[in-house]
Amino acid sequence: MTEPGTIREPVRQAARALVRRECDEWRCLEWDKAGVYPREVFDHIARLGWFGIGIPPERGGSGGTAGDLLVVAEELGRGSTDLVACFSLTAAGLRVLVTDGTDAQRAELVPALMAGRARLSIAITEPDAGSDAASLATAARRDGDRYIIRGQKTFCEAAGLPDTLIQLYARTDPTAPRQDGISMFLLDPGLPGVTLRRLPAMGRNITGVYEVFLDDVAVPADRMVGAENGAWRRLGRELPLERLIISAGFVGAALQVLDDTLRHVREREQFGRPIGSFQSVAHLLVDLHTRAESIRLLVYRGGELCDAGLPHAKEASMAKIASAELYADAARSCMQLHGGYGYITEHPLTMHYADSVIAAVAGGAAQVQRDIVARELGLRPR
Ligand SMILES: Cc1cc2nc3c(=O)[nH]c(=O)nc-3n(C[C@H](O)[C@H](O)[C@H](O)COP(=O)(O)OP(=O)(O)OC[C@H]3O[C@@H](n4cnc5c(N)ncnc54)[C@H](O)[C@@H]3O)c2cc1C
Repeated sequence: MTEPGTIREPVRQAARALVRRECDEWRCLEWDKAGVYPREVFDHIARLGWFGIGIPPERGGSGGTAGDLLVVAEELGRGSTDLVACFSLTAAGLRVLVTDGTDAQRAELVPALMAGRARLSIAITEPDAGSDAASLATAARRDGDRYIIRGQKTFCEAAGLPDTLIQLYARTDPTAPRQDGISMFLLDPGLPGVTLRRLPAMGRNITGVYEVFLDDVAVPADRMVGAENGAWRRLGRELPLERLIISAGFVGAALQVLDDTLRHVREREQFGRPIGSFQSVAHLLVDLHTRAESIRLLVYRGGELCDAGLPHAKEASMAKIASAELYADAARSCMQLHGGYGYITEHPLTMHYADSVIAAVAGGAAQVQRDIVARELGLRPR
C-alpha cells in the first residue's frame, strides 16, 4: 500500500476516533433497533469533508484518494455496515455529479452535499429487475421541458431520509438495446406522484430500504445527469469503486466482530482455562484473521488501481465476494464462540449477524460478481 502523498493515516485515526466516540457498534445496535438515523454523525462527517474525499479541491472536493475513501468506509464498518452504505451513497453520488453534472447542477448540489444539507440515494432495482438490472422498465417520457416518469423501484436504501435526492435510473429510449436506453435523474421524493414505503427488513434499519412508486411524476429536464441514454455505461465505470467501498466496510465490520471475540475468548473461562486457549477455538480465529487481512489488501489494491486510472472491476468484484463471505462467516462463528450470550439482542453480534446475511446480495449478488470476474478472466463474453 502506498502511503506517501495520501491523507490515509490521519484519516484513519480521525475515523476510528469518530466511530469510538459517536457511532460504535453499541450505539448502532440501538439505532438499528429503533430504526433511527443518526443525523448528527453524518453532519459531523460532512463538517470533516469526508464525503468529498477523492475529489480534487478545485472541483469542490476535499482532495485525497479513493484509497482514503476506503479507509473511512473500513472504520465506519466497525460501527455498522449500514453507516457505510449511507456514507457511500452520498460520497459515490457526489463523484458522479462532479464528473457528469451540468455547471448548474454542480453549483447547486456539490456544496450542499459536501455540507450535509443534502444527501443521495440510488434507485436502480425494480421488482422484476434485480440482478438483471439493465432490464429495468421504469419509463421516462419527454414532454416539453420535463420528463414524465412512471414505474416502481424497490430496495432503495436511505430514500426516506430527510433532504435526500434519489438518483433514479429510468428508460428514456424503449427502442434502443436495453443498456443503451437508460438515463439518470435526480428525483425529489417530495414531487407529486412519488410515494415511498419503508420495507420491514431483518436488519440495516438505520437507513432503511424503501419501495418507490412513481405515478406520472413530472421531473424537470434539467434534473437529468449526464447524457441522455448514457447512464448505464457511466454506471459501469462507477460501480467498481462503490463495490470497493462496500467491501472495505465489510472488512471493518468483520475485524470489529473478531476484536470483540478475541476479548471474549481471552476472558471467558471454562474447564479451568480461557476458551481461547483451546486449539479449535484459536485456529478458527486465526483463519478468520488471516482471511480478513488478505481481503483487506485486495480492497486497497483495488483502490490503488482506481487511483492510478487503471481497470479495477475484477479486484472490486473479487473483494465484494470475499469480504461478504468473510463478514457472514465471522459473524456466525463469533456468535458460536460467545455461546448463549451471542444470541441475546442486547449484544451487537446479533446486528452484525442480521446485516452479514445480506452482504452477499446488497450491492450486487455474489453469483453476479462471480460472472463479472469470469468475464474479466476471459471465461465469458463481454
Ligand atoms: C439491504 C439492501 C439494500 C439495497 N440497496 C439498494 C439501493 O440502494 N438501490 C438499488 O437500486 N438496489 C438496492 N438493493 C437491491 C440489490 O442490488 C438487489 O437485491 C440485488 O441486485 C439482487 O437482486 P434481487 O434482490 O432482485 O435478487 P434476484 O436478482 O432475483 O436474485 C435472487 C438470487 O438469484 C441469483 N441469481 C440471479 N441471477 C443469477 C445468475 N445469472 N446466475 C446465478 N445466480 C443468479 C442471485 O445471486 C440471488 O442469489 C438493495 C438490496 C438490499 C437487500
